[in-house]
Amino acid sequence: MTHIPGIHHITAISGPAQQNADFYTGPMGQKLVKKTVNFDDPGTYHLYYGDKTGSPGTILTFFPFPGAAPGRAGPGMASAFAYAVPPADFQPLVDRLEAEGHGALLSTRFGARVASLRDPDGLTVEVIEDMTAPDSHGFHSVTLWVRDPEPTLKLLTEAFGYQLVGKEVQDGFDRHRLAAPGAERGRIVDVVRSHVPAAARPGAGTIHHVAFRARTDDEQKGWIESLARFGHRTTPPIDRNYFNAIYFREPGGVLFEIATDPPGFAVDEPVESLGQALKLPAQYEPMRARIEQVLPPLKVRA
Ligand code: ZN
Repeated sequence: MTHIPGIHHITAISGPAQQNADFYTGPMGQKLVKKTVNFDDPGTYHLYYGDKTGSPGTILTFFPFPGAAPGRAGPGMASAFAYAVPPADFQPLVDRLEAEGHGALLSTRFGARVASLRDPDGLTVEVIEDMTAPDSHGFHSVTLWVRDPEPTLKLLTEAFGYQLVGKEVQDGFDRHRLAAPGAERGRIVDVVRSHVPAAARPGAGTIHHVAFRARTDDEQKGWIESLARFGHRTTPPIDRNYFNAIYFREPGGVLFEIATDPPGFAVDEPVESLGQALKLPAQYEPMRARIEQVLPPLKVRA
């Protein structure tokens, strides 16, 4: 049986692009690896942050809408994501965030130190100390909020091949920890009964979907078939330029995607200059001048 080898990317909604880029490339220390447009709305950006090559498991993407109303996490939504940080880098990162006005709440989860903070749009970002982290660019985990954890746990273990590796009560709620066997980055999914009973409200500061990895297009095709056997109908593969994507809603309501590792972010610009130029998919290239006029200017720290 094929296993999901961890998280590929996480996509969220933000307010103005500049404050989003300032935070993630500034105190968070991530690299902008792709500056493109929302393929469904080319007058707005789609920004991708990650490590210097845009490795799967490091990619955080945002749809920034200048006037986006604030959203709120609730059941059927991922409520937080976490970066895995080597123990030696944990305190320096927390100190740097604090110095730049992003104080974190410190706690312990499954024996590891966790710093929890909010990004400029109120999205919960966590930093978790992890001895296996090669650097501070990869994901540790994502937290899913659902009304009933059981069906989601069943999908992750029986279809995706995750293993239940722990359960901990936190703030009165069970946190189920699942791990993808053999995955390096983005290995963990935590499933929690939603702290907020009211329905989630999509908007700025909320996670839109969680994308898991498929190593090849064939592997992705296999997922379409095996998920169908579990009663989950996915979309057909959609070309996202840097990966192919299929989508479906898991039983708890969270939008899941399975994205292919290839072709990757160096498909349309050299690795050394990833994220510097505005890249457009072929269908929008003829409209470049107009798109560049409409997009707000964006300055990013090198
Ligand atoms: Zn996606």
